[in-house]
Amino acid sequence: MSTITEIFSSNVFDESVMKARLPKETFKQVQLTIKKGKRLDSAVANVVANAMKDWAIEKGATHFTHWFQPMTGVTAEKHDSFISPTPDGKVIMEFSGKELIQGEPDASSFPSGGLRATFEARGYTAWDPTSYAFIKDGVLCIPTAFCSYGGEALDKKTPLLRSMEAINKQALRVLRLFGNTEVATVKTTVGPEQEYFLVDKEVFDKRKDLIYTGRTLFGAKPPKGQELDDHYFGVIKSRVSEFMKDLNDELWKLGILAKTEHNEVAPAQHELAPIFTTTNIATDHNQLTMELMQKVAKKHGMVCLLHEKPFAGVNGSGKHNNWSLSTDTGVNLLEPGETPYENAQFLLFLCAVIKAVDEYQDLLRISVASAGNDHRLGANEAPPAVVSMFLGDEITAVLKAIETDEPYGAKEKELLKVGVHILPRFPKDTTDRNRTSPFAFTGNKFEFRMLGSTASIAGPNTVLNTAVAEELRQFADALESAADFEAALHDLIKKTVQEHKRIIFNGNGYEESWLEEAKKRGLLNLVSTPDCLPYLLHKKNIKLFTDHKVYTETELRSRYEILEEKYCKTLGIEAATMLDMAKKDILPAVTSYVHELSDAALAKYSFMPDADSTYEKSMISKLSSLSALAFKKTEALEKCVMDAKEIKDTGALARFYKDSVFAAMNDLRATVDEMETVTAKKYWPYPSYGDLLFSVR
Ligand code: ADP
Ligand code: MG
Repeated sequence: MSTITEIFSSNVFDESVMKARLPKETFKQVQLTIKKGKRLDSAVANVVANAMKDWAIEKGATHFTHWFQPMTGVTAEKHDSFISPTPDGKVIMEFSGKELIQGEPDASSFPSGGLRATFEARGYTAWDPTSYAFIKDGVLCIPTAFCSYGGEALDKKTPLLRSMEAINKQALRVLRLFGNTEVATVKTTVGPEQEYFLVDKEVFDKRKDLIYTGRTLFGAKPPKGQELDDHYFGVIKSRVSEFMKDLNDELWKLGILAKTEHNEVAPAQHELAPIFTTTNIATDHNQLTMELMQKVAKKHGMVCLLHEKPFAGVNGSGKHNNWSLSTDTGVNLLEPGETPYENAQFLLFLCAVIKAVDEYQDLLRISVASAGNDHRLGANEAPPAVVSMFLGDEITAVLKAIETDEPYGAKEKELLKVGVHILPRFPKDTTDRNRTSPFAFTGNKFEFRMLGSTASIAGPNTVLNTAVAEELRQFADALESAADFEAALHDLIKKTVQEHKRIIFNGNGYEESWLEEAKKRGLLNLVSTPDCLPYLLHKKNIKLFTDHKVYTETELRSRYEILEEKYCKTLGIEAATMLDMAKKDILPAVTSYVHELSDAALAKYSFMPDADSTYEKSMISKLSSLSALAFKKTEALEKCVMDAKEIKDTGALARFYKDSVFAAMNDLRATVDEMETVTAKKYWPYPSYGDLLFSVR
């Protein structure tokens, strides 16, 4: 048995492997590319490719792929083998620098939102050397960005890398103002906590809705759900713990820092959190984690559900995006410091985030928008759809003291002057434990909690990085031209707090009164995906992304189209699945049961005309009227789906799906769920919620 330290990163072509296998000069060149973004020349690339191939073949790999993240939100790969024919009819194993650096997948079937006309079907993939190559299932995977020949980003990674560049540039300007000349790069860091459900595969296979849509479209409440809170942090069942062990091994081999795991609130719900790392690597790692969760679950006879809301009535699954900024010298810029100067710097970065979250609430909301996540946001479990920020009492009090020029704390006589006074130490545990805030400061990082469990974290982090980059740019502009730096800094922080304090809310985000209060403060409450998407194309947002060269306007419009289309398609598939289930399985099943009840009543009557048939008769009557109603609602849903086909404008279509199709789906579900509660188990065509939620024992 090998130890964890031996298996960790054993399938990754990481720095230590490069150091051991590359000639010294080549190693240096690659490091320059990785750390400073220097272009790799083709001679060097050939040497790297060859070493990578030899290493991969020793590990049993036969193929390679450019591994990329198209706008479907999942990863894509097309395998090519290393073989190359020789004149004597044999093959040799080859992999050139050209193949390492650039690939050309036929990309015509990936969503591009009109970016790539169909005649220009090919896009190209380009190696992202900041993310290490790795081996998965005998395939050497090379993390890449995916672009059209016109240079437009067709993926989620390219804009993310651009946003990291944008925030690096502006953060460095700010650091220089504080006299820091050593730091060469600032990178954002992320630790995403991933929630998921595990259900038994045999039970899963009997549910068409789970198979086609990832969530249950019907299902009456089980006698027991999460009301006892007995699952949260509970003892992990042996089958689940076997799965977790296996999963950890697989993740560790890929150098993924899987760290904590526990049961979540809902039955069958669990969570995995890695140790944080650089944002683009964290993004790759989260995609791999989701993929491996599904694969490893199958090996254990289970299915891993990553949908944001697989079951009504119990919690859905989210992803907490813990985010911070860190320098190449190892300093976390969101950690309060020891000296007045460090504290001032901390406050300035904090203010940049406050201003960014306030001014770009809409973009943050859009970055987590999807049909699946709409079920969570505002549904009394995840954070509400209103974006607000939790800072905790202590920091809020400090900011208030600065804002109002009043003394801070009971004992202090003096006013708190930024850059002159040391801030009090904030004990880490003033952090938000009620977990109702969408965006919480947790001592040395922010936790963005609105993300759904399925989505890539690339989008939210692209928004976050770019919005904060913009505020840092404005701050740097103002401070670089200031005559008195300390006075200007103090005023800037004061002004930012005055203008953006409306976004700060330390109370309970689930309370009805907060929604009213938020409205008074002028905060946005964009409840659904069709409500929020149009904001993407607002002038200020196009300006933000184009100014920082993160998206071109064309790229942004294409994203908008893809998101809207995906929303409509998701609801379309769900509606079609419901119709299929109702017409082919549920209504016929109820009719058979009614038939059996009638047979029983008739039999009773023919043997004993005076026998009491109250039970049979009342069930027949109840089920007959319920199934008549369900049939009517099925027809209504069917009509809605037909009407949707007539709508050409995708914006209008998304609205129609939300207001009409989705409403008709819920309406049908209510009646079917009621029928389930009165139909004999052996007639009901699907495993129940109880069977699903307690399937893994
Ligand atoms: P919890 O939220 O359960 O209290 P922690 O606060 O310890 O747990 O961490 C949650 C996640 O935040 C982990 O993935 C951790 O690695 C990550 N994290 C910690 N520090 C940072 C940081 N500076 N930047 C980004 N993520 C971080
Ligand atoms: Mg957390």
